[in-house]
Amino acid sequence: MDRDFFADFKNSLSLKAILIGLIIGVIFFLIVKRYDILSPTPIVFGCGFISGYIAGGKSKNGIINGFIGSLGYPLTLQSLFFIYYPYLPIKIPIFTLIVNTTIILIVCGLIGALGGLIGVNIKKPRNNGNNAGQKHLVCDKCGGYYELQLGESPEDFTDKCECGGNLKYVQDLNDTDE
Ligand SMILES: [Zn+2]
Repeated sequence: MDRDFFADFKNSLSLKAILIGLIIGVIFFLIVKRYDILSPTPIVFGCGFISGYIAGGKSKNGIINGFIGSLGYPLTLQSLFFIYYPYLPIKIPIFTLIVNTTIILIVCGLIGALGGLIGVNIKKPRNNGNNAGQKHLVCDKCGGYYELQLGESPEDFTDKCECGGNLKYVQDLNDTDE
């Protein structure tokens, strides 16, 4: 069961989505010099949104990639505390710093996960409920799918998804839901 969980988790990760989210977070950190409570929140949320949107697929993918992809800003900030630790004007016990960093990363990650959840669902094609009987190509990695139009056949398409996963042909989309 644990093996399945980790395999599933690993399968949900999108390196590209996370990297882009992280890089944007670091860039914004460098632009927004002052750390106040108003500026980091939309940045962290936005990075999570971008990571979720790029990752695509199921809601779970948005949450996982949004969580990790949103950490560029807080990771850069907290790294500075550790790098300049000996020169801090006010002495903070290292244990307090580690606990604070953990809390900040979890809070930022949750904000990012929310952004990722929204991002992934904005990207998702609208499921209008009349998929039954429709033919689809479904990615086994990111969960993205393409609905075949009238007159299109699965042979017209590549069997590789843009995420690197394999596209499988399914008659009824509901068969693939977990
Ligand atoms: Zn895919």
